[in-house]
Amino acid sequence: MRPLSDRVGTFTDSVIRRMTRISNKYGAINLSQGFPDFDPPKPMLDALAKAAYEGPHQYSITFGAQNLREALASKFNKTSGLNVDPNTQVIVTCGGTEAMMCAMMTVCNPGDKVMVFSPFYENYGADAILSGAEPIYVPLVPPEYDFDLSAIEKGFIDGAKAIIICNPSNPCGKVFTRSELTSIAELAVKYDAYVVTDEVYEHMVYAPNVHTVMASLPGMSERTITCSSLSKTFSITGWRLGYLIGSPEVIDAAKKVHDFLTVGAPAPLQEAAVAGLNFGDDYYADLNRLYTEKRDHFIAGLDRIGLKHNVPQGTYFVMIDISDFLELDQFRNFTDLEFCEWMIKEIGVAAVPGSSFFREPVNDLIRLHFARGKDVLDEALNRLAKLKDLL
Ligand code: GLN
Repeated sequence: MRPLSDRVGTFTDSVIRRMTRISNKYGAINLSQGFPDFDPPKPMLDALAKAAYEGPHQYSITFGAQNLREALASKFNKTSGLNVDPNTQVIVTCGGTEAMMCAMMTVCNPGDKVMVFSPFYENYGADAILSGAEPIYVPLVPPEYDFDLSAIEKGFIDGAKAIIICNPSNPCGKVFTRSELTSIAELAVKYDAYVVTDEVYEHMVYAPNVHTVMASLPGMSERTITCSSLSKTFSITGWRLGYLIGSPEVIDAAKKVHDFLTVGAPAPLQEAAVAGLNFGDDYYADLNRLYTEKRDHFIAGLDRIGLKHNVPQGTYFVMIDISDFLELDQFRNFTDLEFCEWMIKEIGVAAVPGSSFFREPVNDLIRLHFARGKDVLDEALNRLAKLKDLL
């Protein structure tokens, strides 16, 4: 047989999703792939049941049901202060994953350079390869995950056509400040570049940090493609509902990519999602409170055990420093992936190896998530406490 495409030979399967499969095989507590173990809000389930009996069951408009686009535009306009038009500036996609891929395929020609922060959510690597773009990596340096603005300027001077910003940032939990985003925005304007944002964790931002919508900064509405999703905000990762917001020119082009990639997101689920978007501001405040409690509870538990970790400013991820363990004879020459596999089997908790997020050869960090009920988090902490006995 003739070889398959070069494209598929250049990246592996997703390590995040692989860890879920290994975790399931050994019955571990899965704190690797980030998704909640609690139910979506009841009014959305009721709306879904209604849609099951009353429809719609056929294709929605390819770029999204009218009522969902209107609800998304109204939510976005409220938080950004912009005035996007639901008909010409919004596309509903199959998850934030399709939104990002669609944005990349809309912006990039093969060979175009795109800046990506490292560590980065692993999909961006594959997004770049599949769209033909060549990534230029800009380090976010642990433990604070700061970056050097001059590295970004250099990337633009070297020809980057776009920069991807995950804010709040998976996996490191960084929330970009308004001033950081403004500096990047000024460079994007200066070098006439696009900014593709992934804002799926926009409602998991822990005080005193605040979420700034990149598109709302001066000069940015026409050059930002905002990608987000309903997965995390409404605990519906399996519904696969995301969206893209941008200028009419960009969205007009992106509609074609989206149409031929997927035709559209599932119609009955779009209908049910509108019920969620009709919630008032209290819903988002409660969600934020819930995750703030989870973060504080989980990292207090990590502190009691004595595991070294960062304090996420946003998202539901925390990075654990395993360097002390890797110095033990038992783990000498272990990769972080081998350590995670050992942890699944012997400790009963699944994590994602940090190396799957970093461009640099980082081997001593692993990522856990805390989007779990309190009992599950407590049991995970009990199990993780056994790690400390090894030191
Ligand atoms: N964004 C989540 C994570 O990083 C889930 C990713 C996915 O599998 N779509 O774990």
